[in-house]
Amino acid sequence: MALNLQTPIDYLKGVGPSRADFLRKELGIHTYQDLMNLFPNRYIDRTQYYKTNQLQQNNADVQVIGKIVSFTEVAQKHGKRLVATFQDDVGTMELVWFRGQKWIKDNLKLNKPYVAFGKANWFGGKFSMPHPELELLEEHEKNLRSAMQPVYPSTEKLSNKGITNKVISNMLQQLFIESNGRFKETLSAPILNELKLISKSEALFNVHFPKSQELLAKAQFRLKFEELFYIQLQLIIKNRIHKSKIKGFPFEKIDNYFNTFYNNYLPFDLTNAQKRVLKEIRADLGSNAQMNRLLQGDVGSGKTIVAFMSMLMALDNGFQACLMAPTEILATQHFNGLLELCKPLNISIKTLTGSSKTSERKIIHKTLENGELQIIIGTHALLEDKVKFHNLGLAIIDEQHRFGVEQRSKLWRKNTNPPHILVMTATPIPRTLAMSVYGDLDISVIDELPSGRKPIKTVHRYDKNRLNVFKFIRDEISKGRQIYVVYPLIQESEALDYKDLMDGYESISRDFPMPEYQISIVHGKMKPADKDFEMQRFIKGETQIMVATTVIEVGVNVPNASVMIIESAERFGLSQLHQLRGRVGRGAEQSYCILMTGHKLSNDSKTRLETMVRTSDGFEIAEVDLRLRGPGDLMGTQQSGVLNLKIADIVKDKNILQQARYYAKNLINTDPTLAKPENDVILNTYKEVTKFKNIWNYIS
Ligand code: ADP
Ligand code: MG
Repeated sequence: MALNLQTPIDYLKGVGPSRADFLRKELGIHTYQDLMNLFPNRYIDRTQYYKTNQLQQNNADVQVIGKIVSFTEVAQKHGKRLVATFQDDVGTMELVWFRGQKWIKDNLKLNKPYVAFGKANWFGGKFSMPHPELELLEEHEKNLRSAMQPVYPSTEKLSNKGITNKVISNMLQQLFIESNGRFKETLSAPILNELKLISKSEALFNVHFPKSQELLAKAQFRLKFEELFYIQLQLIIKNRIHKSKIKGFPFEKIDNYFNTFYNNYLPFDLTNAQKRVLKEIRADLGSNAQMNRLLQGDVGSGKTIVAFMSMLMALDNGFQACLMAPTEILATQHFNGLLELCKPLNISIKTLTGSSKTSERKIIHKTLENGELQIIIGTHALLEDKVKFHNLGLAIIDEQHRFGVEQRSKLWRKNTNPPHILVMTATPIPRTLAMSVYGDLDISVIDELPSGRKPIKTVHRYDKNRLNVFKFIRDEISKGRQIYVVYPLIQESEALDYKDLMDGYESISRDFPMPEYQISIVHGKMKPADKDFEMQRFIKGETQIMVATTVIEVGVNVPNASVMIIESAERFGLSQLHQLRGRVGRGAEQSYCILMTGHKLSNDSKTRLETMVRTSDGFEIAEVDLRLRGPGDLMGTQQSGVLNLKIADIVKDKNILQQARYYAKNLINTDPTLAKPENDVILNTYKEVTKFKNIWNYIS
């Protein structure tokens, strides 16, 4: 009978209750299967031998062949250390022990060839290897089980408890003995054949005890593919269930509102990308299924007009529509912009935010409920229970990352039938990641900027060049332009950050004195009304300089502003820098982005700044960002399970991910219910995977 992999880890020979406890707490290993799926972080190539004169500072673990020629004991603060001189034919290094010294001295043989394995540190003018693994050369040559030695993820506590890499390796060895190395296959024959994958048993063996580089690579590929394949399969199946079970409101016709607007009032020609996306949305809205679509488009790519025209489709079919934005400034700006577009069409539109007056709220609540009000723009305030719709057909969420999943689903419940949902984001997510994180949403991309935009010139300047920068500002203002100066505001050091902001404001006020210059200031601690007042002054052109924290990051649109100065730019993340830069370059004039930093820059900061100077392609920037930060900080990843990947890496393995998605899609297209006998194995594994791991927590 096959070994039951759900057996608690306590039962494995050599584990025992206290070790089992540690394995559970420190590594989350509860069962045999969990141990099986503890994959090495890396491998040490034990085919390579170093001479003592080839050692380098900061080497990883190395092995050196030599002889112990002498032992000495060295007194130190607490107790003493044992030092052995280890010699090969070109020189010497030291081996050092802080514990177990008696045993070492009694058991190690002088002047016999050993292989010493460990990390060689540069210490006191020579190399020394603390607590090396030592093996007599003749044993070593006999024993060479696997040349690639796995290194398992471990924690300090574990090694202190004696659960070293070797112990884990031994436990796995035990597991392979008990199971005869035979494990249930989890991929179907057609997939195995087509991709020439090695079997599950072979893969597991070679990932833990690689026989060769080549087999290791095959094992890793097979296991990564499998892991990503089942995630994709879950997402695709979820999307299908969603589409078949949840009935949307089919918007059957395109009518007066849309056509009148399109023919008479559209302020510019749509880009091809906008047209394509509108078609995609139209197809969703016209079908019986409920739309659940993510619209990605770089800053300035023109998402708003797409949103508006989608709303018109809802209105044409007698439904209401809403647009939710993350900040009051943005909601107000959207409202002002859309109000102009609504006027000639006689559409009723209102805005609801935290600072809406009670009397105004009452009217809004009433007219939303009786259906008089057609479009509502707002902030989180829209989510309040009091806000009820007559028949909400389309809900649009702008700048998605500011809202959590919870809020998405609240909107969703605003109707007996869920409304169509369009989520818009200006933070480009690399396609591969989008596939994993939003694999259950359909994705549209506006990948083209409206024509006639001049690329923004981006430069990096050090603080000591500030005078030149100020002169540049003065010149731009004299040409009638407006300037943003943005300061970082990072939660942990809030007080300090505010000081930076206020100091900066003062220094700018000195260099740009009233009445010749007018300066606005906006930050998160101000009352919404004050913020709005300052913002409006800048929008109307009454002030030339806007000093602000990142509250202006998203969506704000002042076409006459042509210079974005980002202070302490090294402290911003890439996507934030990109967002901020997107505030300029919206008018006809040449725009500039100046990244100000001090002299000390980390390597990551340098990469971020160089990337900003080199490119303004949001997707390229997102890729670099993902490489620098990993997926952990990216929106949505927490919910998606991509962080709990056991062996695959969403960044490094994107080709495998694409393949996995392709095969999962194909499978579901040809056998939607996994009913074919050849897919039994997939159906069973799928059931098991979904039983033990729940990744269904998107909108539901
Ligand atoms: P974002 O995608 O960042 O939300 P917006 O929708 O705010 O971008 O559009 C940015 C600016 O570009 C707005 O001033 C908008 O009127 C303008 N715009 C949008 N689409 C086009 C187009 N096809 N041609 C010219 N200008 C456009
Ligand atoms: Mg926008």
